[in-house]
Amino acid sequence: MALKGLDIFKLTPKKNCKECGCPTCMAFAMKVAAGALPIEKCPHMSQDALDSLSEATAPLMKTIEVGAGDAALKLGGETVLFRHEKTLVNRTRFAVSIASDDADIDARLEAAKLVDYERIGEREFVEMLFLDYAGNGADAYVALVNKAKDLGRVLVLNCADADVAKAALDACKALKPILNGANKDNLDAMNAVATAAGVTLGVSGADISELYDTIKAAEGKGNKNLVLDATGADAKKTFENAVLIRRSNLKDGDRTLGYPTLVNLDKIAPGDLHMQTALASAFVLRYAAIVVMSEMRYAEALALYGLRQNIFTDPQKPMKVEPGIYALNGADENSVCSLTVDFALTYFLVSGEYERSKCPVNLLITDASGMSVLTAWAAGKFSAGTIKKFFDEADIENKIKSRTLIIPGKVAVMKGEIEAKLPGWNVVVGPMEAVQLVKFIKDFTA
Ligand code: SF4
Repeated sequence: MALKGLDIFKLTPKKNCKECGCPTCMAFAMKVAAGALPIEKCPHMSQDALDSLSEATAPLMKTIEVGAGDAALKLGGETVLFRHEKTLVNRTRFAVSIASDDADIDARLEAAKLVDYERIGEREFVEMLFLDYAGNGADAYVALVNKAKDLGRVLVLNCADADVAKAALDACKALKPILNGANKDNLDAMNAVATAAGVTLGVSGADISELYDTIKAAEGKGNKNLVLDATGADAKKTFENAVLIRRSNLKDGDRTLGYPTLVNLDKIAPGDLHMQTALASAFVLRYAAIVVMSEMRYAEALALYGLRQNIFTDPQKPMKVEPGIYALNGADENSVCSLTVDFALTYFLVSGEYERSKCPVNLLITDASGMSVLTAWAAGKFSAGTIKKFFDEADIENKIKSRTLIIPGKVAVMKGEIEAKLPGWNVVVGPMEAVQLVKFIKDFTA
């Protein structure tokens, strides 16, 4: 069980010297107990105290780092069960499954590259390739690994044959893949192969009890670089496993289950991409660090990545962009201006539509505390007064010669007030929705 603040306080030096950044040793102890600070932040802690506290105060769930270079990812490291309690830190990653006996390996690898776009400042794409060993020999598997390496994604080698796994790892261990396939029967051999290559080991069990014993056995061999394959016989069993693992770890304080989980939907619902997509949405919420699917097209990605972005953003921090002038499509001081708020989703939608129009526009982003247009307007954060203040602070009058300002159609009611605050400007009411901007700006600047 996690230690309480008072237990930790008893072991602090009680100097109240503030070197840890806390006003008192008690405050420090409370923060350590809450997982907000590591015990090592106090430079005066005795070695005995450190030894007894470091394991007990370590985060309940480990953060596992996989991949190398630009493809490196962090998995797990969560501290809460629900997003409304605190931020979820490491988002679910999506993998596409490709088997070593697939007839169309090249086409499937090409297809895995198709989804690649930016949404609210984040790149959305298939981050992992799940390379399934189909039992057709090490040569075929190594050939698949060698082809997949070129995509620059994190590889998950799904292979329970230690000899084949070793040959595959020899080809790709520098990329820090995950070797998934250890179970109670092959743990010794698989653990030796994974630790020798310095890669994360994926562990599975016929049921949660067998999985638990296998994790214990792996830890007994000194391996705490694990991912737990929670995939069961069907969706219900898999969901039960994922929830039980996370709750036992974070709610009951069982560190044995404190690893990120993998769920293979291609195994639960083979050939049914609609079902896989529905299940994937459930496992983004509860609690897969890696979701494996047979395919990822834009139809699936737009829904799943949007959901993931909603769940894995910090609800306490508004998603904002910097206020200022954004010159789009080669806009200069004579180009028309278009005004909106600093809510990131609004910015990316509006700027995306303007970029699509190819018309030069100076997009003016005001500070609206990260709220959307109507919310900011209702809260008094997007008004004629705040717009005038922004114009003064950003020195718009001197930086831009154009005197045409397009405002969002949803706040058409502000037109008169803005004109009164910005004399000399021609305030034009734009469309209600961002999707209408392309036609609007083309017609307007024609
Ligand atoms: S650095 Fe250590 S001794 Fe100083 S206030 Fe923090 S916990 Fe106490």
